[in-house]
Amino acid sequence: MKFLPAAFERYSRQMIIEGFGIEGQSRLRRARVLVAGVGGLGCPAALYLAAAGVGKLLLVDRENVEKTNLNRQILYWEEDLGRSKVEAAGEKIRRFNSQVEVETLKMELTFENVYPLVEEVDLVVDGLDNFEARFAVNRACVEAGKPFIHAAVHGLQGELLTVIPGKTPCYQCYVATAPPERRPLPVLGATSGMLACLEVMEAVKILTGVGEPLLGKLLIFDGYQMEFRLVELKKLETCEVCRGK
Ligand SMILES: [Zn+2]
Repeated sequence: MKFLPAAFERYSRQMIIEGFGIEGQSRLRRARVLVAGVGGLGCPAALYLAAAGVGKLLLVDRENVEKTNLNRQILYWEEDLGRSKVEAAGEKIRRFNSQVEVETLKMELTFENVYPLVEEVDLVVDGLDNFEARFAVNRACVEAGKPFIHAAVHGLQGELLTVIPGKTPCYQCYVATAPPERRPLPVLGATSGMLACLEVMEAVKILTGVGEPLLGKLLIFDGYQMEFRLVELKKLETCEVCRGK
């Protein structure tokens, strides 16, 4: 690391992680990541992806900032109330790390529009809050062969699932049909922050090749008891998304 390029200096503490090096950092710099939904999961995920030096972030969200977002959506401050989330998030990320290219799209992700966005990136981080959009992103990722890192939170609990098309079960092998959505969702900011950090760790590992991603297992976090559990997941024979892939 003696002749570290100046642009890499801010990443020097992660580059000395075993197996990371200039190669790992260069891979992150070339990487493009879609953050699907920039809320309780998407805000910290985008921040840590930018901190790690991911070259391009594509932030997608349709909402404006509301007061009830502020307990967990840490890219939005009081001054941002009423602003478009992606505009506020994009501005913060650019100020935080000017080496990261940020593209923002104010829209809802659907089966109709998600395919070209997934084609543009290397992987997708789930920051969504509804099953329909997750189904759309999962299907597009499986069809495009792009990793999809799913997380969801509820209260002090959360779950993490990494989908590598062709290698692991997909999100719809786990949730075949959408259960009824309950609103408003109870959540502590620390819960979504922690699950977002786990998503970013999976993303960085996949992008750099350092470590082993969570393959074929669902991680369940219970903050009430401070317990982590791993549950083996199998491909659903009847899964209409990844069957035959
Ligand atoms: Zn499946």
